[in-house]
Amino acid sequence: MKILVINAGSSSLKYQLIDMETESVLAKGGCERIGIEGGKLTHKAHGETFVIEQDLPDHTVAISLVLKELVDKKAGVIGSMDEIDAVGHRVVASGEAFTKTTLVTDEVMETMEVIKELAPLHNPAAILGVNACRAVMPDKKMALVFDTSFHATMPDYAHLYAIDYEDYQKYKVRRYGAHGTSHKFVSQAAAEYLGRNIEELKIITCHLGNGSSISAVKGGKCIDTSMGFTPLAGVPMGTRSGDIDYAAAEFLCRKKGMTMEEGLTYLNKKCGMLGVSGVSSDFRDLCAAAEGGNDRARLALDMFNYSCKKYVGAYMAALGGLDVLVFTAGVGENTVSVRKAICENMQAFGIVLDEKKNDYKNDGAIHDVSAEGSRVKILVIPTNEELVIARETAALL
Ligand code: ADP
Repeated sequence: MKILVINAGSSSLKYQLIDMETESVLAKGGCERIGIEGGKLTHKAHGETFVIEQDLPDHTVAISLVLKELVDKKAGVIGSMDEIDAVGHRVVASGEAFTKTTLVTDEVMETMEVIKELAPLHNPAAILGVNACRAVMPDKKMALVFDTSFHATMPDYAHLYAIDYEDYQKYKVRRYGAHGTSHKFVSQAAAEYLGRNIEELKIITCHLGNGSSISAVKGGKCIDTSMGFTPLAGVPMGTRSGDIDYAAAEFLCRKKGMTMEEGLTYLNKKCGMLGVSGVSSDFRDLCAAAEGGNDRARLALDMFNYSCKKYVGAYMAALGGLDVLVFTAGVGENTVSVRKAICENMQAFGIVLDEKKNDYKNDGAIHDVSAEGSRVKILVIPTNEELVIARETAALL
């Protein structure tokens, strides 16, 4: 069985064609600058990279070009489109409308239109992606795989905000979380790697990238996560503030003459590591600047590490202990000093990092970086969200 995984952004579209028998990637790539002049498709297959530069006025043109590449004599990996069994689409937010992977129908797409406002930067793009694929491949079965599904198991006391309950009921304002497919993948991969039954494990998964979230996973089910109604909440991130007192945000809006909407853009795009350091949102730049003596870069990193550590502590309490601590995503997989700082002085909680094992260059493999005798296993696991989307799509069929 072959599954095409689509991750559509407002002006981009990433794809992978995955062979489910071997769970291997046959081809992958992405379209950039859709709807803007200077469109480009980068396609990787057979160990080669193929680049096509042509205007991509909309997502339908982009997906048509992707399909053309997939069946191309030279760059292609399949004889015809019939070999694609189904398409799995990544969707960021589902609200309470969908709690699991869902087959695309007209009715489902109508609901998607209704919940579009839950993730205004992402969901409209996913809809464009689905509609484009339906236009080009009308007979193909398609699935929506939601980032929020994995978090749907959070108990009410964990996912609710302490607002008027009737407002929650009316507007569905609550914690939904994000990065669910990644948290799911790495928690399952951790259990597999350790040869343990996930039902018996208490796991904390730290997805630390440009956007970061931390989840508490008990028996394979998410019981809490750091992101909230939107990805703005939780630990400070590349450009997002993370948790902030609403009154402080309102005060800033007033002082800086920003509307509520401008305030949100400010908190999402100008804060976090970038805002504190004044250097960059990128952890490689931050580490280099801090090593070079830049005090604000050091401060930004200290704030990030401290916040992550606090979430780990809180989730140990929520889980009633901890068996495995997992690091994943760009920062979690690559930034040695971040893992070290988060695990520092956690001996009392059974978390002891082996500094030598921790100091390795990411090679795409799973690494156990816990010290001999550490009660908690500390694992670094490269995430694979596309594979989860493909697995979920295949399972739905
Ligand atoms: P996104 O949330 O955009 O998916 P990623 O998970 O790709 O983000 O993480 C991006 C972050 O990972 C950046 O801050 C980057 O500095 C950091 N990072 C650190 N080392 C590396 C590396 N060797 N390769 C890629 N990203 C790295």
